[in-house]
Amino acid sequence: MEPIVVVGGGLAAARATETLRTEGYDGDLVVVTGEPEVPYERPPLSKDYLRGEAGRDALRTLDADWYADHGVDLRTSTTAVGLDVAARSVSTAPDGALRYSRLLLATGSRVRRLDVPGGGLDGVHSLRSVADADRLAEALAGDGPVVVVGDGWIGMEVAASARQLGRDVTLVGRGRHPLGALGPEVSAIFAAEHEAHGVRLLAGRSVTAFEGTARVTGVTLDDGVTLEASTVVVGIGVTPEVGLAEAAGIEVRTAEAGGGITVDPTLRTSAPEVWAAGDIAAVPSPRYAKLLRIEHWAVADSTGAHAARSMLGSGREYDELPYFFSDQLDLGMEAKGLTEGDVVLSGSAEDRECVAFWVTRDRVEGAMGINVWDRMDDAEELIRRDGPVDRATLEGFVA
Ligand code: FAD
Ligand code: NAP
Repeated sequence: MEPIVVVGGGLAAARATETLRTEGYDGDLVVVTGEPEVPYERPPLSKDYLRGEAGRDALRTLDADWYADHGVDLRTSTTAVGLDVAARSVSTAPDGALRYSRLLLATGSRVRRLDVPGGGLDGVHSLRSVADADRLAEALAGDGPVVVVGDGWIGMEVAASARQLGRDVTLVGRGRHPLGALGPEVSAIFAAEHEAHGVRLLAGRSVTAFEGTARVTGVTLDDGVTLEASTVVVGIGVTPEVGLAEAAGIEVRTAEAGGGITVDPTLRTSAPEVWAAGDIAAVPSPRYAKLLRIEHWAVADSTGAHAARSMLGSGREYDELPYFFSDQLDLGMEAKGLTEGDVVLSGSAEDRECVAFWVTRDRVEGAMGINVWDRMDDAEELIRRDGPVDRATLEGFVA
């Protein structure tokens, strides 16, 4: 029997590999990851790892020894460069062809680059890998102003960490509010936390150039202002790594439709014996009656485990609600469901201690606890409820 092959070096790959073994699969198992690292998790890279408060071991889903101890052939610095689904074969560099009986694609995302002059200067960083985090941590140990470009999750978390490290930080966002997808009421809570800690937030601005000869010295904005900068971090989103699947003829959604590899409710792709999990998977959601492709830790975790069980024949349909978390300065949050609809707040936005609900036509789409913990199971009950939920129930959710 050919091995099960897992392509990827993040959480989805690691959790799938672990689950294959814990569910009793004792056949040949190969993990192929392009990074020189044992598969690892990214959330600490913008938080405690970046600030030097956690070490490399804290990143790993499974210890380096786990793979050998469990008979897993882990091939680091090995990239899957081609896929032949008819021959059930993955071409890898530098190892060559690898036949599989079943294949999991868990190739995650790559960062988008800002296409402006000076993007290649020293001191202009992006953040996806542990190598990126190591370079950025070294830069943040220096001095001079830090400019963060992009007001999404990376931008806000890196700005927070840089501020905690004592740096002068300006965050440039092109929207009216940071984390604009959450809507103005909730984004204002995050903005207030940053401003209270001295992060300068510039809204509605775009970057036209990075200045400097070899090293970056400034960031020029579309209003003509140049901000002084010794370190720049660009966090303007990611693109799912679906090239391998696309070239192999596996069904992939257009970028306009949200991108990603289309899977069935068991996370199987359109190709025989090929599954997908994590950031790349566009998964049917029974609750939302549409495909969801979610770029968050908990989804990589649960889809990785689910795909492994499916590869072993479980046949169960994936039905988790999206879940994610963030830590920024003194603000911690966790969220369930989708942040789409009108916002109803319970608790105190001013004290940054509240739960936000997103509601459409009396139905709760999602909830976010901001410095309120252990209420996401209660929130899930409201999100999954078939009938309407009245506003008073939501407003009174935080006693
Ligand atoms: P990835 O983690 O992207 O891993 C994919 C792996 O596959 C990579 O190692 C890549 O090199 C490898 N690969 C790709 N193509 C190939 C190939 N052809 N051959 C071999 N290997 C290949 N989410 C949260 O919910 N909360 C957080 O607080 C949070 N913080 C984050 C902080 C940072 C700095 C980043 C970058 C992300 C954060 N996320 C967070 C998002 C979360 O980390 C991702 O959703 C998650 O990493 C997705 O896991 P994955 O396994 O699908 O893909
Ligand atoms: P993101 O959260 O998707 O945010 C991207 C931000 O960049 C958005 O604010 C977007 O603005 C902006 N943007 C896009 N194109 C731009 C451009 N050309 N110029 C200026 N701004 C632009 O992505 P991210 O912050 O880069 O994070 C990368 C990935 O890691 C995402 O998948 C994210 O979910 C994940 N992540 C998650 C967490 C967490 O869950 N706590 C933490 C870190 C990272 P618009 O809204 O105007 O498009």
